[in-house]
Amino acid sequence: MNTWKTLLSQSVTTFDDLKKHLNYVDDELRDVIANFPIRINPYFLDLAKKSGPSLLLQAIPDAAELKDTICIKDPLGEEDLSPVPNLVHKYPDRALFLVSSKCAMYCRFCTRKRKVGKKSMVINDTTLQQGYTYLKQTPAIREVLLSGGDPLLLEDEKLDEILFTLKQIKTIEVIRIGTRIPSVLPMRITPELVSVLKKYHPLFINTHFNHPDEITCEATRACEMLADAGIPLGNHTVLLKNINNDAITLRTLFCKLLSLRVKPYYLFQADLTRGTDHFRTHTREGIEIMRQLIGHISGMAVPTFALDAPGGKGKIPLTPDYIVNTDNPLIFKNYKNEICSYPEVLP
Ligand SMILES: *Cc1c(COP(=O)(O)O)cnc(C)c1O
Ligand code: SF4
Repeated sequence: MNTWKTLLSQSVTTFDDLKKHLNYVDDELRDVIANFPIRINPYFLDLAKKSGPSLLLQAIPDAAELKDTICIKDPLGEEDLSPVPNLVHKYPDRALFLVSSKCAMYCRFCTRKRKVGKKSMVINDTTLQQGYTYLKQTPAIREVLLSGGDPLLLEDEKLDEILFTLKQIKTIEVIRIGTRIPSVLPMRITPELVSVLKKYHPLFINTHFNHPDEITCEATRACEMLADAGIPLGNHTVLLKNINNDAITLRTLFCKLLSLRVKPYYLFQADLTRGTDHFRTHTREGIEIMRQLIGHISGMAVPTFALDAPGGKGKIPLTPDYIVNTDNPLIFKNYKNEICSYPEVLP
């Protein structure tokens, strides 16, 4: 039987593996892979081959990764914002806790490309313990976001232990897990995993789908199992050049997600991460796409388009401008570009 562990063990992880699977592989990719690890599991590889460039480009390395002279190693200033290893405390009431160093696929555009999947990313019981201690000593933290790497790549027992420990810290009201598992290795969502997760409500999961072709029968089933366990599901999408940077693709993606009970949460402007410059789009493009979504599809299917400001300054919503004039009456345009007005209350 193709369990998730078997599939994972059959992943493409080396230059030679890649050569076996693709007709043409640029020799330069040997260096790229030495710098930034690859992992393409058979589920995603088969899907990507059927789908085409939109999925392949997310998984297959590119020589451009080593030629990027614009972007920086740690654009969100995460290391500077970490009071203990693997815990980023940027906002007053929530903390990002990295609990896994591995993923079921290494996305070429990953924000944490500097360390995810590399030996330099050390997560063990000592670092976890340092994280718990910090969370206990910082009662202002009301919400913990588990990420990595992919937290759902941990063994059920390990995840259970982490969630149990966090649950003991009474000042933590909500746990949120960020995972790409439902889109890259959906068979990891097993009944056993779900029975672990559902013990720790209020628990939220944010998935990461970038393209409608990622929504397969398997992915649908994975989301259904999570939603049936009472886990509210959100989704992050990264706006990526030549992958999903058009309104029709994103409209399809967001409407399909909503029908799976997954609420599109953020559409991210690509971060300034070293090795990913070839995926970046102009912010104008994303704002224009938002204009073609807002009002045209269910508000429930429209995410916030956000830019995570360099240097750890936080997420900034980028919204089309609807206001034409702020005098009284307020003059604005609607989603159809019609001029409208609203008389303000008199002072
Ligand atoms: C994105 C992020 C959060 C969560 O932000 P929300 O707007 O609440 O989703 C928290 N901490 C860090 C470090 C983040 O990057
Ligand atoms: S799943 Fe997330 S953390 Fe892992 S490589 Fe992809 S973007 Fe990075």
